[in-house]
Amino acid sequence: MKWMVIIFLISFFQKDQYRSARDRMVKTQIDDRGIKNPLILEAMRKVPRHLLVPQNQRGNAYLDRPLAIGNGQTISQPYIVAYMTHLLEPIKGMKVLEIGTGSGYQAAVLAEIVSEVYTVEIIEKLGRQAERDLKKIGYENIHVKIGDGYTGWEEHAPFDAILVTAAASQIPQPLIDQLKVGGRMIIPVGPLASTQKLIMVEKTKHEIKTKDLMPVRFVPFTRTKL
Ligand code: SAH
Repeated sequence: MKWMVIIFLISFFQKDQYRSARDRMVKTQIDDRGIKNPLILEAMRKVPRHLLVPQNQRGNAYLDRPLAIGNGQTISQPYIVAYMTHLLEPIKGMKVLEIGTGSGYQAAVLAEIVSEVYTVEIIEKLGRQAERDLKKIGYENIHVKIGDGYTGWEEHAPFDAILVTAAASQIPQPLIDQLKVGGRMIIPVGPLASTQKLIMVEKTKHEIKTKDLMPVRFVPFTRTKL
């Protein structure tokens, strides 16, 4: 009995400790740096980032930096997640495609705001782990597929918005095709050895407009080996 009370108290304080670390992260890393969209701030106050990183990284989950998630991949720094989400201008009702599930954190932030998130991961182990973790947390509007995100997710296209979280050498044509007219895509593009450019692609009835935003550094967009 005594032990049960102690275990309960430990888990209670741990939970609380993560909540205050998360609130502080949102205030100092996101809000104070100029991202004021209340939907994004609220979403990031909710998503338990510590439950989406490897167990030995939990204590680092709310730090101002990317973290290793295994298989040579990383979960982006919270600010980058906020910034990319902000560029996408997500609202309720949208159907969004993400390429590069990784830990599932970006997908979870989107899922707090939009209606459905479709996310594709090329490394099976990471995709399955994210799928399990997201389900455990309670997300029912995130759909994970293992595969090469270059070809998008045809069956569920077109998408209101597309977010690519691995750096491609060029914008994959299938993703442009799967974007709704009036929709936008955010994608890091550029040579892998140096920094890449974050690009916004807007699809109108008559043209594809691209705008360079800022230098970024993402893990490479890989292709299935045939
Ligand atoms: N959005 C992630 C960050 C992931 S890092 C998060 O919130 O944690 C980029 C991810 O893209 C890696 O997991 C990598 O395996 C994946 N990736 C790279 N090339 C890909 C491709 N062609 N299709 C799908 N996923 C890819």
